[in-house]
Amino acid sequence: ANAGEALVLLENSLTLSRVTLIAPDGQVLFDNMGEADSFDNHANREEFIGALSRGSATAIRRSDSSGMDMIYYAQKLQDGSVLRLSAPLRLVHSVFAGMLPGLLGGMAAIVCVAVLLSRIIAGTLLKPLSNIDLDEPEAANTYEELTPLLSRIMEQNKRSRQQIARLNAKQQEMDMLLNGMSEGFLAMDARHRLLSVNKSALQMLGVSAQDAQGRTLTAINRQPDMLNLLEELERTGTASATLCQGGRIYLLSASKVDGGSGSVMLIRDITEKTEGELMRKRFSANVSHELRTPLTTIFGYSDMLASGMVKPEDRQDFLERITAESRRMLDLVEDILRLSKLDEGYQGGRREKVDVLDCAKQTAVSLEAAAEFKQVRLTVTGEPLHVLGDPTLVGELIYNLADNAIKYNKPGGEAEISVHRSGDRVNLVVRDTGIGIHPTQQDKIFERFYRTDKSRSKETGGTGLGLSIVKHSAEYHSATLSVQSTPGQGSVFTVS
Ligand code: ADP
Repeated sequence: ANAGEALVLLENSLTLSRVTLIAPDGQVLFDNMGEADSFDNHANREEFIGALSRGSATAIRRSDSSGMDMIYYAQKLQDGSVLRLSAPLRLVHSVFAGMLPGLLGGMAAIVCVAVLLSRIIAGTLLKPLSNIDLDEPEAANTYEELTPLLSRIMEQNKRSRQQIARLNAKQQEMDMLLNGMSEGFLAMDARHRLLSVNKSALQMLGVSAQDAQGRTLTAINRQPDMLNLLEELERTGTASATLCQGGRIYLLSASKVDGGSGSVMLIRDITEKTEGELMRKRFSANVSHELRTPLTTIFGYSDMLASGMVKPEDRQDFLERITAESRRMLDLVEDILRLSKLDEGYQGGRREKVDVLDCAKQTAVSLEAAAEFKQVRLTVTGEPLHVLGDPTLVGELIYNLADNAIKYNKPGGEAEISVHRSGDRVNLVVRDTGIGIHPTQQDKIFERFYRTDKSRSKETGGTGLGLSIVKHSAEYHSATLSVQSTPGQGSVFTVS
């Protein structure tokens, strides 16, 4: 309150406050509001009784003399009399009301200061704590009392780092294992969402790692075989199927793991195996067929000879035919044996320095008679170059190519074997001026028993296996094999 208001308050309290001195028996000795005699005995007043018994007392009640609500305060004096002060309650209220804004303001100010101070204190207290580097807690310059806690944090950090390193190493090991696998591997959750896919599986399914992450397998591949496999997996817990994708054949085997909360799938490329099986089946059928023909002929002629039905002058001719057919059969069986040896990976094959030109010259010598018979001029040219390989296989490769160059030639034609260098490779080229091969047949001639002209091949003693052996031998030496040919003009076979 300001000075003016205080003055008014003081004035009011002086005029309105009543002071009464009461004798121990209750008689009013003095009262500033009137003559002492005019007041009745105060012995029954609540504050008076209280003051007599306890030393002091207060009371609020309606005054008999003024008819107003009054507040009384009575104090027992040393001589046993009681001094009483009283004021209208209204006055007390107004005093309190006058003080209220000041009180509230004061309290607000105190609260503000308290908040501010607590902030500042908390800030200064917490600053060293918030400056602690949790990676290096012991390096922090902070309260000594915190040292044990910081040491524990440090210890915990060390343990966490070791654990993370262990987990990382495990993960790396797992990744290496999975990505080194030639088989495809994938792990899925219960809804066939991909959790982990290795490189081979991505390649086989034809998706990138980003495309596969988090997607379901059915969203990546919707082939009926795949859908059936997943359905069976749900039903029985394990399933397998073959899937054709991108020209390859894959075997998928899936099984549920972890009580059905996920599943894993292995994908194996079985193209070669399947095709190999198919080829072997076709091969054995072909072999039986190819062997049957000369055998039937031999059987026919020898049967007739045995039954004595052949005229003596024809006997020689029959025997020559039997010899020729037997020769054919022997050639066939030899080629078949050679091929099956190659099929098995040519176990025991040697790897040594082979002089290709020397090999070609030896071959030319062994084919001299055949060339002369067909009236073909066979030549060998080039430089002495070496490859690392099996001399028998290299010899067979050159023999078969040169043999064809003579067999499928024209009288007066030429056949040439040349050996030359091309970069860091050795090229063997067998060129002829023969009948040539039609473009549509150029791929097929390397297949087993394939002959562009069956009767002509038979007539020349061909088995249809020569180029298959050439192809195998080239593969064994990691060589490329190609053919260029123009029908009627000749062919060029290049092994590089
Ligand atoms: P074959 O024993 O019948 O000669 P190959 O496997 O060596 O069997 O050859 C397959 C077929 O390819 C032959 O029957 C022939 O039709 C054709 N061929 C191979 N070499 C030549 C060539 N130099 N010129 C023309 N045709 C060829």
